[in-house]
Amino acid sequence: MMHCSRFLRVLLVGACLSLASGCLRAWQATPWKTAALSSSTSLATAAAGLLPAPGDLPGRTEVIAGQLVIHADFPLAEQHRLIRELEALRTDVSQDLGLPISDEPVHLYLFDSADRYDAFVARRFPGFPARRAFFVETDTMLSVYAAWQDRIAEDLRHETTHGYVHAVVPTVPLWHDEGIAEYFERPRSDKGIHREHVAHLAGRLLEGTWQPNLDALESLADPGEMSQDHYAEAWCWVHWMLHTTPERREILQDYLADLRRDGKTAPLPLRLVRTEGSMTACSAAVKAHVEALSHSDETVAN
Ligand SMILES: [Zn+2]
Repeated sequence: MMHCSRFLRVLLVGACLSLASGCLRAWQATPWKTAALSSSTSLATAAAGLLPAPGDLPGRTEVIAGQLVIHADFPLAEQHRLIRELEALRTDVSQDLGLPISDEPVHLYLFDSADRYDAFVARRFPGFPARRAFFVETDTMLSVYAAWQDRIAEDLRHETTHGYVHAVVPTVPLWHDEGIAEYFERPRSDKGIHREHVAHLAGRLLEGTWQPNLDALESLADPGEMSQDHYAEAWCWVHWMLHTTPERREILQDYLADLRRDGKTAPLPLRLVRTEGSMTACSAAVKAHVEALSHSDETVAN
């Protein structure tokens, strides 16, 4: 099995500005060791910040849970419900996406206060926007950093999903990476339904201000371009493929399996058009999916 060299990628999640949730991701196509040799760019500064600095990091408690190595500022019970949930997520991600389970560690660093976490981020990732949690992939390590706060469960499900996926598929298109993480950030009992995204997209459809457009999502390369519409739509395409027909689920799984072997494999839109007939037909089906989910929400609410 060919193994791609791993590049520095930083994925940040949080709720601020116009984003209800989701990541802002910044990355460069240069190995961090090389980038760290340069001091002329802010990305080099960020890369230098990834060098180990044990004194900065939470280290009072260490819990190993499957693939996860959890370092916390505070006592954390091995049987904590969130830890059990994150362990179960490993199996869910593998089964739903048809990916193998990896033993590569994903390190979770949990800070006991927002102040300590913010100070760490300011020191180690200067210039990065404020976010509640983020995922970092280097050529040697997968790490998540988060402050323990009200939405920690959702944030860790999201970021840990990035870790599980990147342990076996190092290169995933931006929108698809986020769509998958948005899908798995919901509690298991929600079966991947993200009600905030359903309500958002249904509202935009009613306003006539949004239509599904997978080609536009595929063109996104800069995380700064990703709006709440994009996060919601990215989730929606993933949910549509996983929950409507076995054929669509297979297309998604085959795509990720091929991507794992070859980062330049045939893109998802091309694969969908082969079976759905056209991108127009795909978009119409995704639009109908949003409407059906929205109506089922109304039924539940009534
Ligand atoms: Zn993310």
